[in-house]
Amino acid sequence: MTLTGNMLIGAQAVKGAGAPLHAIDPARGEPLQPGFCAGTAEDVARAAELAAAAFDPYRAAPLETRAQFLESIAEGILALGDALIERTHLETGLPLARLQGERGRTVGQLRLFARVVRDGYFLDATVDPAQPDRQPLPRADLRLANVPLGPVAVFGASNFPLAFSVAGGDTASALAAGCPVIVKAHNAHPGTSEMVGRVIQQAVAKHGLPEGVFSLLFGAGNEIGTALATHPAITAVGFTGSRRGGLALVAAANARPVPIPVYAEMSSINPVFLLPAALEARAETIAKGFVESLVMGVGQFCTNPGLVIGIEGPALERFRQAAGQAVQAKGAATMLTPGIFSAYAQGEQALAGHASVATLGRGEASRPAANAAGPAVFGTDATRFLASPELEAEVFGPASLVVACRDAAQMRAVAEHLEGQLTATLFVDDADADVARGLLPVLERKAGRILANGYPTGVEVSHAMVHGGPFPATSNPASTSVGATAIRRFLRPVCYQDLPDALLPDGLKRANPLGLPRMTDGVLSA
Ligand code: NAP
Repeated sequence: MTLTGNMLIGAQAVKGAGAPLHAIDPARGEPLQPGFCAGTAEDVARAAELAAAAFDPYRAAPLETRAQFLESIAEGILALGDALIERTHLETGLPLARLQGERGRTVGQLRLFARVVRDGYFLDATVDPAQPDRQPLPRADLRLANVPLGPVAVFGASNFPLAFSVAGGDTASALAAGCPVIVKAHNAHPGTSEMVGRVIQQAVAKHGLPEGVFSLLFGAGNEIGTALATHPAITAVGFTGSRRGGLALVAAANARPVPIPVYAEMSSINPVFLLPAALEARAETIAKGFVESLVMGVGQFCTNPGLVIGIEGPALERFRQAAGQAVQAKGAATMLTPGIFSAYAQGEQALAGHASVATLGRGEASRPAANAAGPAVFGTDATRFLASPELEAEVFGPASLVVACRDAAQMRAVAEHLEGQLTATLFVDDADADVARGLLPVLERKAGRILANGYPTGVEVSHAMVHGGPFPATSNPASTSVGATAIRRFLRPVCYQDLPDALLPDGLKRANPLGLPRMTDGVLSA
């Protein structure tokens, strides 16, 4: 596929009127061709109007059509073959094998949502039949089903150029819900975005769907993003990126005459708690696994283990030494963008120079010319950590801080002190059960996913997954951006009272023609 640098607005390819943006090959610091001309507020308006016009016909299309549409996108991404992986590699510096894996995840997500659409559970079809003879008052016939919110703006994430970008989790879940999607491409991988965007555009046409079901816009300097999040036709936003960007979009969405939900996934340091018996039994093994998890993907995962908490003593010292040694053997590796590298370098230097922090181990030094980040593990104690809020800030990349606590009570105090997290991990043996029981109620308040004896990197896309959590992990603690229930972010319930059967949505008709699982008078029936 030859890249054109054009935006995709409905069925059209549109050359933006703004200045051309070039992806940067982060390994060489060189701009890549072609330029992608930025759109204007008029382009946003055109895409939003098309999305609004597409909404009713798209959501009225049979669920089977919607499922097949998602599957066609998956097939189209696979059909791009090596060309997609090679372009994404050039734009992001991510290794080919990682990108092949990420493509598999992306395709898997689309197919999972096709299944979710087909099985119909997401509609929550619920029937409370009329009780005309009820005393003292009769009950009306009440039927509930979820309907899609409307057009959704999706911001492609820099760190998942496939799985959380143009056809990534936010797009797949919004399309599955029945919402048209407008993607604001991330400037780190515009070529990847165009390739995948054209696949979606072709799938829209193939299934005879209205053209406004999908558009793709380019732009920088927040202009397109703000115009999109504040356009009256947009009803929700999906975002993964910086805390600052997420908060700006939340503020813009709340300041609209009609505020809308922003599902922003922003900042998490994913604490790992080393409970005493587990640490005593396997400090070195846990340390090696921790360093592997820390450097995976150059630490550019939202689930990267940025904080480790243990109780002071010989076992924690063994852990510190083993982690320090393991990280010394690790090389520097290219980050996604020069901006992300320089933010890492700044954060890592701030930790290294902090009066309360000791360096436990450093890998190969960072190589700025290649935007390559050197990994590092630092240490402090809990008293200093609790007194230094800056030590809790996310350093996006392969750096982590080990915090030594006096005892289990101080470990719990550290947990209590933490901000909201995507994950919290326990290394735990049977003899740690009491300490774990003390921590769990705190961790349930703090995190969206609690793991035992594993590492938080590596997020399964499945029905039970939660990739969310209290602020600042996300802007909405009641949701997840990964897994089947991500569809719920883009739905809302409608209750139909005493509507004649012919006017009800098919999923709620008395004969249940779609064969949906339904809750009838509070009892689930197949
Ligand atoms: P970003 O700066 O938040 O940008 C992400 C997207 O949001 C871009 O398309 C950007 O468009 C848009 N955007 C940002 N601020 C905006 C605003 N105020 N109004 C409207 N649109 C806005 O994220 P990034 O470029 O991917 O990386 C920067 C930093 O974010 C990293 O160093 C890291 O700290 C953090 N990050 C965290 C995660 C995570 O999973 N927790 C993932 C990726 C990045 P424009 O180009 O127009 O600004």
